[in-house]
Amino acid sequence: TEQTLGLLAEESWSRFDDYDSVFYEGVWHRSHALAERARRMCGGFAAAGIGPGDRVVVMMANSPEVPLIYQALWAAGAVVTPVVFLVGADELRHILADSGASAIVTSPELAGTVRAAAAGLPVFVDTAELEQAAERGPVSRDAGDLAALMYTGGTTGKAKGVMLSHGGLWRVAKDAYDMSHQEGKNRALVPVPLSHAYGLIVSVAAMHTVEPQQAVLMRWFEPEAFLKLAAEQHVEYGSVVPSMIQLLLAEPLESHPLPDLAYLTCGAAPLGRETLAEFERRMPGVQVLEGYGLTETSAVTTFNPPGRRRIGSVGLPLPGYSITIRDSSGEAMEMGDVGEICVSGESLMLGYWGEQEPDPEGTALIGGELRTGDIGCVDDDGYLFIVDRKKDLIIRGGFNVFPRDVEDALNQHPDVVISGVVGRPDPRVGEEVVAFVQLRQGGTATAEDLIEWARDRVGRVKYPREVRFVDSVPVTSVLKLDRKALRTRLG
Ligand code: ATP
Repeated sequence: TEQTLGLLAEESWSRFDDYDSVFYEGVWHRSHALAERARRMCGGFAAAGIGPGDRVVVMMANSPEVPLIYQALWAAGAVVTPVVFLVGADELRHILADSGASAIVTSPELAGTVRAAAAGLPVFVDTAELEQAAERGPVSRDAGDLAALMYTGGTTGKAKGVMLSHGGLWRVAKDAYDMSHQEGKNRALVPVPLSHAYGLIVSVAAMHTVEPQQAVLMRWFEPEAFLKLAAEQHVEYGSVVPSMIQLLLAEPLESHPLPDLAYLTCGAAPLGRETLAEFERRMPGVQVLEGYGLTETSAVTTFNPPGRRRIGSVGLPLPGYSITIRDSSGEAMEMGDVGEICVSGESLMLGYWGEQEPDPEGTALIGGELRTGDIGCVDDDGYLFIVDRKKDLIIRGGFNVFPRDVEDALNQHPDVVISGVVGRPDPRVGEEVVAFVQLRQGGTATAEDLIEWARDRVGRVKYPREVRFVDSVPVTSVLKLDRKALRTRLG
C-alpha cells in the first residue's frame, strides 16, 4: 500500500516545516493550513458517505483548493474525475452518466451549469461545507486501485474515461520529477489546467519533492499575466504547452526579462523547432525541455532531461516505460524507421472505463501495450521523435502529408501567429491541403504570399493549395490546436 496517493499526500504534508506553499490571486497560502484543510475535506467526503471506489467529479478552474480536493478524495479512497471547467451541461451529463459519479465538487460560478446536469446528485459548491468536518487521514488502498478517471478525446472521437491507478500516477509523477527537477529551483509557475492529465501529474509530482516546492498558480493562462507573475514572483521553472510559447512570442519578451526562470517543461502537443529556438533566443537563460505523453500513459511517457536534451526530439522514455515502433500490420520495426509509437510499462492506464473490446482504429490497449495513434521513430540513443498523429495524416494524390510539417513552415512566417492544417475531401486528389491562419496584428501577408512561402519550404507536393484567414485558430481546453473543429469549418 506504499504507493498510494492518499498516503503520499499525508507524507508530503509532514515532510517540511510550515512554509509559503501556493500563491494565488495575490495571496500566499501556508503549507500546514492547506494540509489541515485537505484533511478536513477528507473527513467531509467520508461524512457524506463517499468511500473507496466512488467516482467524484471535480469541475473547477485552477485554484488552491483543486489539489486539496484531489488529495482529500484519494485519502478517502475515492476516484478523482476531473472535468475542465469549460464544458457545457450536455458533456457534463455524458460524463456523469458514463462514470456513474456519486457527487460533484464545483465553484459558485459554475454551479448553474453543474446543477442543470446533476440530476439529483449531491453538489458541493466550493469546499466550505466539506471543511466543517473533523480531520481524517487516508484509508488503505492498493497500488493497482483506481485513483483517477480522466475523460479524453477532446481532439478526436467521443470522450472516454481513462482509468489510472494509484501506483501508475505515483510512479510517473516521481520519475518525471526526478528527470526534470533542478536542485535549488523550487518555485514553479503553473498555468496548465489541473483538470488535464498534465496538470494532474504536475500536482502529484509536487508531493514527491525533496525540497519544499512553491507553486504560483494561474487560474487560466494569459500571456501578459504569465510574464508579469513570473517576474514579480521570481519563478524558477514552470510547465507549459506549445501554444502558450507561441502566444508568448507575440508579446514584447525583450521588455520582460525573467532572470530567475531556468526552465519550462513543455508537452501535450507539437512544438516546432523554430518556435523553441526563437523563444530561447528572445528569453535568454530559459531552457525549454520537451516531453511527450498521453492521458493513457498517466500523462508523461518521454522527457528531455536538462543537459541531455535533444532538440526536435520529445526525449527519452521514463524509466518505467519502453517504446516499440510498429508498422501497420503490428510488426516491430527497425531502429530509425517511422511507424506507430507503442508503449509498454507499469503506469499505463488500466483500460477505458466500461469498454469491452479494444478499438484497434483508435488509441487502444492491446495485449498490455498501448497503441498511441501517434507516428514517430526512435534514434540510436533511444530518443523519440514525433512525426504526427495517424488520424491527422492527409493523403494527397497518394502522397502522405503530415499537417504538422506544413504548420511548422507557416508558423515561421513573421506575420503568422499560429496556423492549423487539415485535409479537405477532393474528387481529384483525394484530399486537398488547406491551411487556417491567424495573422499577427498589423500582418499584411496575403494567401498567395503564404502559399508561396510554404511551397518554398515543404515542397511542391505538401504545400497548402488554399489559405483561409481566421481571427483565432480553435484550440481545446488545454490550448491544443483543435483540428477536429477546423475540419468542421471546411464546409
Ligand atoms: P485524443 O482525442 O486522442 O484523446 P487528446 O489530445 O484529447 O487526444 P491527450 O491524452 O490530452 O489526448 O493527448 C495525447 C496526445 O497529445 C498524444 O497522442 C500526441 O498526439 C499529443 N502530444 C503530446 N505530447 C506531444 C509532443 N511533445 N509532441 C507532439 N504531440 C504530442
